[in-house]
Amino acid sequence: VLGEDAVRSDPASLARYTDPYALPADAAARLPAAALLPADREQVQAVVRIAAGEGIALWPVSGGNNLAYGGGAARTPGDVMLDLRRMDRIVSVDPALACAVVEPGVRYVDLHAHLRDAGLSLWIDPPAFGEGSIVGNTLERGFGVTSYGEHADTHCGLEVVLPDGSVVRTGMAALGDVASAHARRDGYGPSFDGLFFQSNLGVVTQMGVWLMPAPEHVLFCHGSFRSEDDLGPLVEILRDLRLHDVLNGRAVVESPVRWMAAVSRRTAWQDGDGPLTPAALADMVRRAGIGWWNLRFGLYGPAGLTDARWRTARRALAAIPGARLSARAWRPGDPLAGAGDAGLAGVPSMAAMAMLRWPEGSGCTPGNGAHLDVGPICPATGADALRQYRLVRDQAAAHGFDYYGGFTAAPRFLHHIFAAIYDRTDGGQAARARELCRGLTVALGEAGYGMYRAHLDQMDLAAAQYAAHDHAALRLAERIKAALDPAGVLAPGKQGVWPGRPRARER
Ligand SMILES: Cc1cc2nc3c(=O)[nH]c(=O)nc-3n(C[C@H](O)[C@H](O)[C@H](O)COP(=O)(O)OP(=O)(O)OC[C@H]3O[C@@H](n4cnc5c(N)ncnc54)[C@H](O)[C@@H]3O)c2cc1C
Repeated sequence: VLGEDAVRSDPASLARYTDPYALPADAAARLPAAALLPADREQVQAVVRIAAGEGIALWPVSGGNNLAYGGGAARTPGDVMLDLRRMDRIVSVDPALACAVVEPGVRYVDLHAHLRDAGLSLWIDPPAFGEGSIVGNTLERGFGVTSYGEHADTHCGLEVVLPDGSVVRTGMAALGDVASAHARRDGYGPSFDGLFFQSNLGVVTQMGVWLMPAPEHVLFCHGSFRSEDDLGPLVEILRDLRLHDVLNGRAVVESPVRWMAAVSRRTAWQDGDGPLTPAALADMVRRAGIGWWNLRFGLYGPAGLTDARWRTARRALAAIPGARLSARAWRPGDPLAGAGDAGLAGVPSMAAMAMLRWPEGSGCTPGNGAHLDVGPICPATGADALRQYRLVRDQAAAHGFDYYGGFTAAPRFLHHIFAAIYDRTDGGQAARARELCRGLTVALGEAGYGMYRAHLDQMDLAAAQYAAHDHAALRLAERIKAALDPAGVLAPGKQGVWPGRPRARER
C-alpha cells in the first residue's frame, strides 16, 4: 500500500516516536511496533481499513512534537504510529476570505514562510513552539497570543478519515470544493468538528484555518506589578478589558521565574538545589528590574484605534499601585526580543526552548532540561487566579520545584500553565515532577478546576474529573467510540477513552 520506504520498524527510526522528556530507559521501554508514513489521504484510508480488519492499533501524529504532553509517543507501547508528516501540502490560500487549507505535515513555520514569500498580508497565530504542526496543535486545542490565539476557534472545515476508512468533511466543507467551504464553520444540521478534537474518532487529513489580516498598526504593551497579590486585581482588570474588547489580543501574565528562565539560569540567583527561596526571588526581581507579575499583550488595528485601546488599557491597569506600564510600536522587520515578542507579532520562533536551560549548572548538563506541564483552565476572576496560583506554587515548592508559571487571558477564562522543569536524566527529579503534576491534577480537580490538556500518562486522571452525572460525558464519548470504531484501533486511551474498557472512569 505504502511502499517500503514509508514503513519503519528499525529502532533508530522508532526512537522518534517516544517522549524526549522521559527518562531514556522509560522512553526506550515504550517504543511503538512500527511507523507508517502515508503520502496522501487515499493511503491513510487504505492503512486504516487494514488496521480495522486486523485489529492493529494506530496512533496518528502530524508533527509528533507534543512536548510536555508525551512528545511523539502513543499511550500504549507496541501501537503502530501513523505519521502524517509527508502530507505537507498547503492546499490553498484564499487572500480575500483570509483562510488556508493545510495537510497535517504543515508546520507554523511553513505556512508563515509561504505567506511571506507570496507577499500576502496575512498572519498566522503560532504557539511558542513554532515548529509545531498546525493540525496537531489545533486538534490539541493549543493556543498562541494574537487576536487568533484560541486555535480551536480559528479552524474551519475538516477532512477526516473515519475508523472504517471512509472519509467525511465537516461544516460548509461538506458542500465540496466550493467558495464557502472554509468561510463558516457550521454547515447545516448537527456539527461534527468537536468530535475530532482531542479525540480518537478519526484521522484529520486536511484542515481549513482562518488567517489574521496583517494589522496596519501593532503595539507591544508591557506591564510589571510589584506584589504577589497584584495577580487578583490584575486578572479582574484584564477580564473587563477583554470582555469590552479593549484588548484584542491575548494578555499573558508571567511569574518572575518564567520571565527570567528565558534569559538566565537558576544558578545565577541561588546556589544549590531546591526552589528559589522567597529572599532569592525578591533579590532576582529587584536586580533584574522586573515585576512579581509581568504582563505583555499586543494591540492590533488602525493606528488611531490601537492608541485609543492603549490609553484605555493603561488607565485601567494604572489603578494597581506601583504598576509600571509601557507600549511601543512594532513594524514588520523590527527586531523581536525572544519568544514573547515573536508570538505577539505572529512570527513562529523556537526561542521558548531557552526555558529548558533554567536548571543547567546545578547538576543538569546542557541538553538534558525537560518539562512536564499542568494546564488547568482558570475562570477569569482574581479570586480563582490567586487560589490556583497559591495551590500550585506551594505544591511545587514542596516537591522542590520553582513556580514557573503564567496565565494567558481569554475574555472569560485563563489558560494557567505551570511547568515543572527538571533534568531528564535524573530519575529522582523526573519522578518528583510526575508526582507533582499528578498531585496538582487531583488537587485542582478537587478544587473544581479542569485541565485543558494533559500528558499521555495523566489523560485518564484528567478525563475522570469531568465527572458530572456519573461521568456522563466520558460515557457518551465511549458510546460514540464503540459505534464509530468497534475494533478500537484508533489511538486507544487518548484523552481517557479506551475502546471497550472504561478505564478512566474506573480510576
Ligand atoms: C518550549 C515549548 C513551548 C510550547 N508552547 C506552546 C504554546 O505556546 N501553545 C501550545 O499550544 N503548545 C505549546 N507547546 C506544546 C507543543 O509543543 C505544541 O502544542 C506542538 O504544536 C504540538 O506538537 P505537534 O504540533 O507536532 O502535534 P502532534 O504531536 O502531531 O499532535 C499531538 C496529538 O494530537 C493528535 N493528532 C495529531 N495529528 C492528528 C491527526 N491528523 N488526526 C488525529 N489526531 C491527531 C495525536 O493524538 C497526537 O499525539 C510548547 C512546547 C514547548 C516545548
